[in-house]
Amino acid sequence: MFDAHNHLDRCEDPHEEATLAASSGIDGMLVAGVDPAGWEAQARLSHIPGVLLAYGLHPWAVAAMDDAAVEEGLRALERRLDRGPAASALGELGLDRSGAVDPTSLDRQERAFRAQLRLARERDLPVVLHIVRAHGRALSILRQEGLPRAGGMVHSASTPPEELPRWLELGLHISFSGSVTRHPRAREAAARVPLDRLLAETDAPDQPPLGTEAPNRVSNLGRVVQALAEVHAVSVEEMAARTAENARRVLGA
Ligand SMILES: [Zn+2]
Repeated sequence: MFDAHNHLDRCEDPHEEATLAASSGIDGMLVAGVDPAGWEAQARLSHIPGVLLAYGLHPWAVAAMDDAAVEEGLRALERRLDRGPAASALGELGLDRSGAVDPTSLDRQERAFRAQLRLARERDLPVVLHIVRAHGRALSILRQEGLPRAGGMVHSASTPPEELPRWLELGLHISFSGSVTRHPRAREAAARVPLDRLLAETDAPDQPPLGTEAPNRVSNLGRVVQALAEVHAVSVEEMAARTAENARRVLGA
């Protein structure tokens, strides 16, 4: 299995977590980026077999920064991409209009989103999108700016099922987290994603699947894969293989 999105660097003991994941049948994962301090912690995990990295400025990080800090963060992101360890994707980037985020940060979020889309195109890196309660706005920005040739994924998709075709038209892959074990709307959305565009993720240590406790574990990925298999009426083995194959294709791994 392949965990298309987690934060291994934020798990209590990343090395133990990766060992447990490997013994649970997970042979690859994308560790997603949030902010410069996190990129540093991620870089220290690059030697773990199966670990791929994405660096990016998360909308929450952008919301907590002032304009000057965002500009510096974007320059630091370019330096990180130059310096390595090599990135397999750029992200998380996107827009978040949920109650958790200061609404006055939206303009800043949007500028950082556009700047990172341009950077992803320049570097030909697939993008890892974090879009919450901002689907219409994010779609219009993506249409204006354009995606990198390598495409990308919508992570922990909370896309309303009826809006999914618009995301699929852009060529994006759609990644589901533990929410697909909990919420009928997420299952309805997952049912509309063709098998060759589906990804499975834990988002660990966040978003524990139904029947598990916080903090979430990378080794819980099987529960997400199982829920997706049920939704698509295929075997767990087939869903595990398809989602892993899709992730490796997007990430060029
Ligand atoms: Zn995340």
